[in-house]
Amino acid sequence: MAEHGSIFRAMLQEFDEAARLLNLDPGIWKILTHPKRQIIVSCPVQMDNGEIEVFTGYRVQYSITLGPAKGGIRYHPDVTLDEVTALAAWMTWKCAVAHIPFGGGKGGVVCDPTRMSRRELEALTRRYVAEIVDAIGPEKDVPAPDVNTNDQVMAWVMDTYSMHVGHTSTAVVTGKPLELGGSVGRREATGRGVMIATREAARHLGRDLAGASIAIQGFGNVGSVSADLLAKAGAKIVGITDHRGGAYHARGLDIPKLLEHAQAHKTVDGFPGGEPLTNEQLFALDVDVLIPAALENQITIENASTINARIVIEAANGPVTPEANNILHQRGVFVVPDILANSGGVTVSYFEWVQDRYGYFWDESDVNARLEKKMYEAFHDVLQTSLKYKVDMRTAAYIVAISRVGTVTQLRGMYA
Ligand code: GLU
Repeated sequence: MAEHGSIFRAMLQEFDEAARLLNLDPGIWKILTHPKRQIIVSCPVQMDNGEIEVFTGYRVQYSITLGPAKGGIRYHPDVTLDEVTALAAWMTWKCAVAHIPFGGGKGGVVCDPTRMSRRELEALTRRYVAEIVDAIGPEKDVPAPDVNTNDQVMAWVMDTYSMHVGHTSTAVVTGKPLELGGSVGRREATGRGVMIATREAARHLGRDLAGASIAIQGFGNVGSVSADLLAKAGAKIVGITDHRGGAYHARGLDIPKLLEHAQAHKTVDGFPGGEPLTNEQLFALDVDVLIPAALENQITIENASTINARIVIEAANGPVTPEANNILHQRGVFVVPDILANSGGVTVSYFEWVQDRYGYFWDESDVNARLEKKMYEAFHDVLQTSLKYKVDMRTAAYIVAISRVGTVTQLRGMYA
């Protein structure tokens, strides 16, 4: 069912389990399982060869109950409305678990950015933003980077929105370059949060990060920063894969050298300091920690029983299907779910939005200390809930999120 079907349905399966345990009011249940708003736009762009292409874009505002919708924009050929809706729901639960005053949203454009020039990407970004300009804003919906988008794309989002409203608006988007209202520490924030979640999970199981063996799928912003910070904390990163290939070293890969290699070749594949590694081999490695940091649906019923790791940290959104999650649970694997494990990114997005609205910027040690505190609290709120309800960390994270969003929904009441 959810294995090869709807990602939104997979999200609902996770939601329903927690809602049952909470005895959630049926009315609130209905509200929380429907997206508030789904926007579909067509974005015509003149390509470099002179031809016009029309790209489909989505922006889903799943919830604005706790504050403005918040969530990234992804550029990928496989983007669908179903996927963007699930990702927007996950943002809602993530912001609630992180205890920041945001709802959840997500955007996506069906395109292959690896085959587009910088000019084409700028034109597409500006047209997409122009199409959704009335729906976004610092108080309404605040986008950010996601798969295949970065600080330059966010700069174009900020500029296009600002030109439309007639004044510079920095707080409309986060993950911007530092020069135009970005926050120090935002680029590394998701990876830093992943490092903190891994450290706390290891501690909970009586282990130490120093000397722990780790395998990571994905070497984009999240995978590479996680690898770097975990290696600096003393862990051995034995295997890393990306969409082109992978590298393995039993005593630990040299991460600074691998970063240089990936910078030059746009992949970890062919790294001279390790042996080749496939995704299949990566998932089956006998390691302390496995970190999927790429896309959805990577650990499925097909490969869940090959996993040998003691801990799985979901740095990506939705990397484990509900069926695979059950298998991991039965096999005693400690899974830290996406809505907790990767919440460091949106937490520092919140700090960026606060700094933009304040017009006063913090230094990096301040940002990192606040992130450390937020991640630590979120991890332990979820851990305590999991011990209290005797459930896994995913169900516990949903329980925390649904209680928070549900309480506010009830307090605010129905507007008819
Ligand atoms: N795209 C990131 C996520 O999935 C960050 C979202 C944000 O900062 O708004 O959590």
